[in-house]
Amino acid sequence: MSLQAGRLSDAQIAQNFSDLHPPLSDHEALVAADRCYFCHDAPCVTACPTTIDIPMFIRQIAAGRPREAGKTILDQNILGGMCARVCPTEELCEEACVREVAEGKPVLIGQLQRFATDAVMVADSHPFERAAPTGKTIGIVGAGPAGLAAAHRLAMHGHDVVIYDARPKGGGLNEYGIAYYKTVDGFAQAEMDWLFGIGGITLKTGQRLGDTLDFDALKADHDAVVLAIGLDGVNTLNVPGEDYGQVSDAVEFIERVRQDELDTVPVGRNVVVIGGGMTAIDAAVQARLLGAETVTIAYRRDRGAMGASRYEQDLAASKGVTIRPNLMPVEIAPHAIDLAYTEASAEGLRATGETITLPADQILVAIGQALEDPLGLERTGRKIAVDAEGRSSTAGVWAAGDCAAGGDDLTVTAVAEGRDVAESIHQSLMA
Ligand code: SF4
Repeated sequence: MSLQAGRLSDAQIAQNFSDLHPPLSDHEALVAADRCYFCHDAPCVTACPTTIDIPMFIRQIAAGRPREAGKTILDQNILGGMCARVCPTEELCEEACVREVAEGKPVLIGQLQRFATDAVMVADSHPFERAAPTGKTIGIVGAGPAGLAAAHRLAMHGHDVVIYDARPKGGGLNEYGIAYYKTVDGFAQAEMDWLFGIGGITLKTGQRLGDTLDFDALKADHDAVVLAIGLDGVNTLNVPGEDYGQVSDAVEFIERVRQDELDTVPVGRNVVVIGGGMTAIDAAVQARLLGAETVTIAYRRDRGAMGASRYEQDLAASKGVTIRPNLMPVEIAPHAIDLAYTEASAEGLRATGETITLPADQILVAIGQALEDPLGLERTGRKIAVDAEGRSSTAGVWAAGDCAAGGDDLTVTAVAEGRDVAESIHQSLMA
């Protein structure tokens, strides 16, 4: 049989899926904080999409005040705990750190951020207070990073917020779409529950736009609406043999790894992942950790064009994943895939005429998603068109996160956009 669950022992699986970066001890955090120069006009802050005051929070850790440090982070990024775990820090704050530039060894900003935010989350009380009630109500569709960040900021300003989500649980990509070993011990749900501690936020699950949730009714029921629905449609390969049965969506595979018991998730003996972004890496690494013998990422362009960071590419390689750039699928057979070599040309990417066949009893497709139903709103490309404050083409409707045009498809960018549309809505409603 090709696909099989439980290829490894329970003990091996538990070891493979343990915390990627275990938390720093108090002593390790002090040593790491001590390396910071507390730069004026710090480049790490400029590189952070949520502009966290990094030298300030590191100084607070160094002074033995981790909860204050956590509050400094959360003022700017209410999901600072998740971002500390999943941000590509090596391409953001840590890449910009002067100690990376000078010595090739940055201050461990991400791990220090986790240390500080963890300290806040175990405290008895929520560190933010609500303003006096405004009597305004805001409907947010999508309980992922953008929706949660918007909800918290709006609740803080005294508005009542209802979040609608299609799935049985909130959290969006944090809960369903990120590798298990980056966010262990149910952290996504714990962080969301903690965020709701501010009060004034109601989560309604099982509410799918166009199905159980009507867009016009939503607009009529609320003073403002935020669409934070992510992307839904999954692009297909469009090659012969796609219906042989071993082809599936990498997003669904990652979701099963996150939601099901790990020893029940079927995985192939020889797995090929098509794509070059974070989803491709997360799917490939987890297939390997579940016991696949060979896992190959095939990406149609050169390695430098991959959406996944170099750090993530190296992580995949360290787990035994082979990354093969300049390969694109041309045909699928029952237990194999034919791929064509590609090269860049003046006319764009083209096949060289050479091909290779790889054994593949499981093919995971991670070649991007799109917004299938734009709800009558104007689009920019495959996303909802928005202005600088996140307003859509319909009055009273804002959009944030992956479904909104502009910005990287990163958790931290979604948090920044959610926070900023909340400020825009607050200004608009209170004018
Ligand atoms: Fe500290 Fe590096 Fe940021 Fe400077 S750039 S403040 S050394 S973390």
